[in-house]
Amino acid sequence: MTTTPLRPSTCDQYKSQVKPTWCPGCGDFGVLKSVYAAFAQLELDPDNLVAVSGIGCSGRLPFFIDAYGFHALHGRALPAATGIKLARPDLDVIVLGGDGDGLAIGAGHFVNACRRNLDITYIILNNSIYGLTKGQASPTSSWSMSTKTAPHGSSEQPVNPIALALVCGATFVARGFSSQNKQLAELIAQAMAHKGFAFIEVFSPCPTFNKFNTYEYYRNEIQPLPEAHDSHNLPDALRYAFAPETYLGVFYNSDQAMLNEHTERIKTGTSADLETRLNALFDSFAAAS
Ligand code: SF4
Repeated sequence: MTTTPLRPSTCDQYKSQVKPTWCPGCGDFGVLKSVYAAFAQLELDPDNLVAVSGIGCSGRLPFFIDAYGFHALHGRALPAATGIKLARPDLDVIVLGGDGDGLAIGAGHFVNACRRNLDITYIILNNSIYGLTKGQASPTSSWSMSTKTAPHGSSEQPVNPIALALVCGATFVARGFSSQNKQLAELIAQAMAHKGFAFIEVFSPCPTFNKFNTYEYYRNEIQPLPEAHDSHNLPDALRYAFAPETYLGVFYNSDQAMLNEHTERIKTGTSADLETRLNALFDSFAAAS
């Protein structure tokens, strides 16, 4: 991501006039706080920053950020962000949305955004429920969890967002928790400083509709990745993603060519090949005449 140094900045600099309208206790408050802190840590220029979202409670996040914003259609935040980044590679682009938005209707875009490895940071605020539409099962709802649409418990295999990002080619993959603001801000800052597609899953409880994945539930489940974990090791990252323990931290971090670098190489390669082939053709004409 292009980080534009500014004078020392504070979190307040990134707060818009619009006050959050989430339910009291919503995990999204903590994520917003960490987003402000990460922006301040990187001293990002708000005039150079775009926050993109889809539909859902967490899709409101760009309203509360004093920068450019794009509220896309349901599940379409990543295509909008892709267009923004391709048209204006100099901009810092962050995408924020929920598990329903990104892993159901937007799942295809998630897979392909990981493959493209554009310089974008994508945060899924995972509450394992559709909060805005009042409590239906989402792609990350667990088997045992009963919801309005699954009163006897969800009968679908939950998606593992970390594993999905890893196998699809995301070059920075991490997980945080909305009530661990300091650690989460650090993860977001690392993701935004990373060159390439950076994905963070954040556990962000919905106390209104999800009575299973509560703050207490997560506090009992989570633990940091072992210090010995080498975040350049993809097989190990996958092992931790599928482990019965629920780890937080940076699973994977790798420097790889981004989409714009690949296309530049292809363009350059094609014209060089073409020139070589044309010269050979002209030489063969000259030899024949
Ligand atoms: Fe947050 Fe859930 Fe309320 Fe939506 S419904 S604002 S996710 S607590």
